[in-house]
Amino acid sequence: MFIHRLPSFVPAIFPSLIWEKHQASKDNQVYFTFDDGPSPEITNFVLDELDKFQAKATFFCIGKNMRQFPELAHSIHSAGHSLGNHTMNHVNAWKVPFHEYIENKQACDQVFNDLGIPSIGFRPPYGRVNLKMLKNADELGPIFMWSLLTGDYHSGLSASSITGHCLKNIQAGSIIVFHDSQKAFPRLKLILPEFLAYCYANGFQLSAL
Ligand SMILES: [Zn+2]
Repeated sequence: MFIHRLPSFVPAIFPSLIWEKHQASKDNQVYFTFDDGPSPEITNFVLDELDKFQAKATFFCIGKNMRQFPELAHSIHSAGHSLGNHTMNHVNAWKVPFHEYIENKQACDQVFNDLGIPSIGFRPPYGRVNLKMLKNADELGPIFMWSLLTGDYHSGLSASSITGHCLKNIQAGSIIVFHDSQKAFPRLKLILPEFLAYCYANGFQLSAL
């Protein structure tokens, strides 16, 4: 069974990572995040859907994709959404040496610099972290994890199963993961409008991290 909702003990084990975001003055904020883009058509679909609800969100982009589709990265930024670093090549922290991992993350930072777009922080690909990353968290910047994983990239999940499991778990401060990628699009295109409508109907405000 796919685990959408983060088990409650996990943030306690990794307190230096960001799992939810709470603002004392606004207790109705929810944070949609989109990983692995930008991707032609798919990122535009997401931007259009967000725009219908005047929602703001955060895109954790792969440097290689930003390099290939700089106009999409600029579209995200100019629409008022925030962007973050998701490494240059979507590297897996459990499979490459730490120095290589850092270099790949820094290569993505360089793309942000070259495009003149600010990065709000880092999301590790696959959500994978290791001890060295935690010890050197300063080098990686704020590390954004999540409290709710849609699993939109998982071809074995149906859109109705995703919405059925996820919507009821949305609460103020939730950080929710979607993907603006080819792999996720068959499900993303169905679930995103439902997530947006649900949040709107329930008084949540969608903000960028
Ligand atoms: Zn990713």
